[in-house]
Amino acid sequence: MLSYGDLRLGLDELDLKNSPVIAHASLNSFGNVDGGAQTLLRAVLDSVGVLVMPTFTYKTMITPEVGPPNNGLTYGGDQNLNFMAEPFTLNMPCDKMMGIVPETLRRLPSAKRTNHPIQSFAGIRADKFLAAQTLQNPLGAIGALAEANGWVLLLGVDHTVNTSIHFAEKLAGRKQFTRWALTPTSIIECPGFPGDSSGFDAIAPDIENEVRRIQVGDALVQAISLKILFSVVIQKIKKDPLALLCQRDDCERCMAVREAVLG
Ligand SMILES: [Zn+2]
Repeated sequence: MLSYGDLRLGLDELDLKNSPVIAHASLNSFGNVDGGAQTLLRAVLDSVGVLVMPTFTYKTMITPEVGPPNNGLTYGGDQNLNFMAEPFTLNMPCDKMMGIVPETLRRLPSAKRTNHPIQSFAGIRADKFLAAQTLQNPLGAIGALAEANGWVLLLGVDHTVNTSIHFAEKLAGRKQFTRWALTPTSIIECPGFPGDSSGFDAIAPDIENEVRRIQVGDALVQAISLKILFSVVIQKIKKDPLALLCQRDDCERCMAVREAVLG
């Protein structure tokens, strides 16, 4: 059973006490944690300067009948999904696939959350970073964290959930998408929606020497500077415009990126 003290002992080795951090976490990957997500979150908060986590809400998404071409989306597809879509509110829990830790962060009384209807972020001591998100620039908070020499913290997860790689893709000029989300008053068009991340672990060998790594319980915890991550991802995509795409032949967004590159 891992205690708060065990977690702190490990996390302090990463030396992020004064750094702004965006974190992604799998509680289960640690094994048994005494006090669960609350304990892990408290240990992370006490080991970093600023904490931001994505609290995305995909159940707000609406698929229209028509829209821009090559958008990695089948228009007029599953009308049942549209029927089941829920309007975004600040109290909407984040998607279950984000894990329990960001949801626990979002619920802290001192946490702030942004109001993007699909790609909201929650944070503590993070107001100026959260304020960098706009509808046009949904991952702006990550850019602001990088400017402030921020870090990505992967707590028992790999790069397939590393949202910051999406921001670097955009910087590298990779195609972005348009999506639509339900709010209590209207359907909002959301530009700058990123591609698919299931091929992102291919970045691991390129950044191996730049990553701070520790083992905490059963979990591998990795930290990498955002600026370094951006620079490595941009170089990789400039060298191979199809880098970091997945190989599934039914992946609409990766196919749309290929089409944008190859014509
Ligand atoms: Zn894909």
